[in-house]
Amino acid sequence: MNYRLIIFDADGTLRYCSIEGQPCPNRAGEWKLYPGVTETLAAYDWAHPGEASGVGYGIASNQGGVGVGYFKEDTAVRLLEDTFREAFGFNPVEGTIELCPHVPHSGCGCRKPDPAMLNRLMKFYGALPEDVLFVGDRDADKKAADNAGCAFQWASEFFDRDPEL
Ligand SMILES: [Mg+2]
Ligand SMILES: [Zn+2]
Repeated sequence: MNYRLIIFDADGTLRYCSIEGQPCPNRAGEWKLYPGVTETLAAYDWAHPGEASGVGYGIASNQGGVGVGYFKEDTAVRLLEDTFREAFGFNPVEGTIELCPHVPHSGCGCRKPDPAMLNRLMKFYGALPEDVLFVGDRDADKKAADNAGCAFQWASEFFDRDPEL
């Protein structure tokens, strides 16, 4: 399938927290890319929004740690930008990284499984749901893709890695 836009979850999909017993990175130096991520992504011809050919890219990440007070939203943004840069090998265009900084069950409307982040990225690229793939590691990711009407693939399949990693 030739997708026009591929959106990625971050934690558990592109990166993992390198601090034992801590689910997500709170600051620089607390995350690593999963093995194989850089190599898999390098096989694609990525396109910035507005470019005629290539595959669009984006990140849609729940960052409930901001709402809980573990770290500030600008830190979460910077960590996602750093993750993107290391994974893709170039800088993300502004507007291609979406995060929900709210705590779970706040009714914010953007936290996955709500589709708002995916919808914004699809709109940004002018992509129709049937031309979009979302790659994630949680049921909430799969539900968000269902709610947005786009395809879904588990990160372990997309990156061809052990699901237990
Ligand atoms: Mg995840
Ligand atoms: Zn939210």
